[in-house]
Formats: sequence, C-alpha cells, structure tokens
Amino acid sequence: MRLSRYFLPLLKETPSEAQIVSHQLMLRAGLIRQSSAGIYSWLPLGYKVLRKVEQIVREEMDAAGCHEVLMPSIQPAEIWQESGRYDDYGKEMLRITDRHDRAMLYGPTHEEVITDIFRRSIKSYKDLPQNLYQIQWKFRDEVRPRFGVMRGREFLMKDNYSFDLDREGAINSYNTMFLAYLKTFKRMGLTAIPMRAETGPIGGDLSHEFQILAETGESAAYYDAAFEDIDFMADDLDIDQLKSLYAATDDQHDPAACSVPADRLRSGRGIEVGHIFNFGTKYSKAMGALVTGPDGQDIAVEMGSYGIGVSRLVGALIEAFHDDNGIIWPEPVAPFDVGLINLRPGDEACDAMVQDLESKFRRAGRDVLIDDRDERPGAKFAAIDLIGLPWQVVIGPRGLKDGIVELKERATGERVELSPEALINRLTA
Ligand code: ATP
Ligand code: MG
Repeated sequence: MRLSRYFLPLLKETPSEAQIVSHQLMLRAGLIRQSSAGIYSWLPLGYKVLRKVEQIVREEMDAAGCHEVLMPSIQPAEIWQESGRYDDYGKEMLRITDRHDRAMLYGPTHEEVITDIFRRSIKSYKDLPQNLYQIQWKFRDEVRPRFGVMRGREFLMKDNYSFDLDREGAINSYNTMFLAYLKTFKRMGLTAIPMRAETGPIGGDLSHEFQILAETGESAAYYDAAFEDIDFMADDLDIDQLKSLYAATDDQHDPAACSVPADRLRSGRGIEVGHIFNFGTKYSKAMGALVTGPDGQDIAVEMGSYGIGVSRLVGALIEAFHDDNGIIWPEPVAPFDVGLINLRPGDEACDAMVQDLESKFRRAGRDVLIDDRDERPGAKFAAIDLIGLPWQVVIGPRGLKDGIVELKERATGERVELSPEALINRLTA
C-alpha cells in the first residue's frame, strides 16, 4: 500500500474532546472518526486492526469447539417480555417501533435470541452440548459514553452461549471458555487477570471478568504476581489452580484478609475486556428451552454466556502499548507489518529498492505500507511512529550507495543498518 494513495487522515493536534491516550491516538492516527456520541466510523487503518482482533477471537472460539452464527441486530420485544428483561433493562436499551407499531429494539446482548433459536431447533439431550458464538454490533445507550471506543454506545462484541444438560457439563463449558479467553488475550500480547464478578441482572452464580492492566483502567485491580509467570499458551493449564489465584477489585480487596504475601501482591488499574457467566436455567426456564433427557423427561438446559469487547480491545491495546510518539502495535494485531520510508521519492535507486522490497515482503506474506509522500523526513518518521507499525525500514540515497538500509523496531527504538537481503531474511524468517 502506498501512503500517497491511502486514506489516512492524520491529525497534528491532540483533539480536545479526547481525555485518554487511546482515544487521542485513535483520532490522531486516523483509525476512527466520531459520528455521534459514542458512535464511531472505522477508517481503513483502524478497521484493519479491528478485523485482526476479531480474527484472533474467531480462531480461538473455533479452536474451543464453538460454532459461528450471526444473529440480527434488531430484535423483537416479545422475547424480552418472555424472559422478563424487557422492563428490567431500562434506558440502556434502544427501543424502536416499526411501521406496524410493533415494539422492536437494537440488541444490547443476545441471550433471548439464541434461546429462541435453541428451543425451536434442539429437542434431545443427544444434541448437547452446544456452544454458538457471533461477532456482532451491540447498542447500549450508555449514560456517559466516553473514552472513544472503550465505552461506546455502538460497539462490536463477540458473544457466545453454551447449552448443557446438567450443571457439571455447564461448568465444563465455562472452564473451556475461561481458558480460551486467557489464550485469546495472550495472542494479542495481553495478560488478562480473571476476577470473580457479581452476576447482576443477567442472573446465575458464577462469573468472571477479564481485566487487562493499563494506567487508565476504570477500576483498581489486585492480583497474585504468579499471573505474570503463567504460560497461558500451554495446553496443560490447571484451571482450578488459576481460579484459586488471588485477584480482586477495589471493592473485593481486603488487605487484612488477603493471603498473598506483600511482595507477591501486584496492583494496577484494570480494563474489562471480557466477561463470562454461568446462569443456569434462568432463560431456558423462562422461555421453555427444554430437551428430552435420557429418562424421557423434559429438562431445562443449563446455559452460560461469554462476551469479549472486540472494539474496546482496540482501545485497550493502545492503552497498554504506546509511548509519547504514538501507538506501538503488537505484531499480531498491527495494521501493517512493515512501514517502508522512502526518503527520496523520485530518486531512481530509492524507488527501485522500495519496489523490490515491497514485492519480496508481499511474497513472504508480509503486509507493507510505503511512505512515498513528498514530505520532509521528520514528518515521515513522526507519522510512522504515530501509527505504530512494528517494523520501520528507511531507504535513502546515501545508504543505498553503500548497499544498506536502516531497520528500526518500534517497540524498542533499536536501529540497525543492514543489507536488503539481510533485512528480508530477518523480517520473513
Ligand atoms: P462494563 O462493566 O464495562 O459496562 P458490562 O459488564 O456491561 O461492561 P458485558 O455485558 O459483560 O459488559 O459485555 C461483554 C464485554 O463487552 C465487556 O467485557 C466489555 O469488554 C464490552 N463492552 C461492554 N460495554 C461496552 C461499551 N459500552 N463499549 C465498548 N465495549 C463494551
Ligand atoms: Mg461485564
């Protein structure tokens, strides 16, 4: 991709409406634009990151045995009246009336829709367990939308729903999701701390929130340093041990009762990026999601629901990975892998080298953004730092005379001069 022909509206000034760094950087780096309060358009660079985050989530859900579906964003009010949540949900629900005066709503979540699908499709215990997920826009009319995509009104969520015959199966589904979440966040470079949570209006008795740490987190978090040493990608993680590790929010933390020695107790501020619930038969009983059990009797299925804030994660990642110059994307979610800065567009040797490197990177499956704009070098360095690509390559006439280009790693700032061959080897190994 050539920057001169890309759509990347960078801002020089920090927009005054943005209070936290991720919101400021998302606007400055041309990732999003606000449409109305808490509602955003995703521009090309931001949308690429959103899709990468979404894809990691999708792969981990598929690996955990879940099946992807897509439910409607607009839902009928009737199913919410059946579950009893239509009145409870309050003002966060955007209520709509269609031309026939039917009550509809823009889905803030999908327990009712999925339960309705289930009860009309699955009749026997033999078809259990099931775990269905979607990645779909939600609308919640938050009183105070703020911090850009971190607390929007319209936001992208991955939500899945498990159906089991009994409590034991339901706990098993819950644990599978628990581990899948830790992996999902780890693949994006994030350590998520699972914290026991209240279940609130969704019902049930077992729930964890997954929080990643960043200075601007909305709530205080205390946790056992052991979380930092766990290899979340390992296949033999001990779920009971993980659940027993100390992790507490501000409200839950009691220094006197906390068993973690002071030198092993960590604290920080957390951003909630995921939330899982087991809520038993709350919806299946209310809505008649029954299956015939082995003994021929009808049983209400045990359910759980599991959310990940996909669009919030883009902001949360920036909160976790940035410096004074801009964003520092972890490689798995970076919009482009490599930024090629052509210091002298129009110079034959520079142009030829850029083109050659571009095609070699492309063949190796590396996504490259080329700064071929007619701009001062300083402006180009600032722009590439701001948008946070993991690797920067600087190509200029002086270096090329000696057969070298410069490589900079965004995260460490480390620079090396090397031959184009060595560069390709290093970044495509
Ligand atoms: P919060 O406590 O932050 O308001 P919640 O508990 O209401 O969130 P859930 O219903 O658990 O949210 O939704 C699952 C995930 O969706 C959350 O963990 C969060 O990452 C994300 N999410 C929830 N509300 C928003 C929002 N307004 N904007 C962006 N993401 C959100
Ligand atoms: Mg929550």
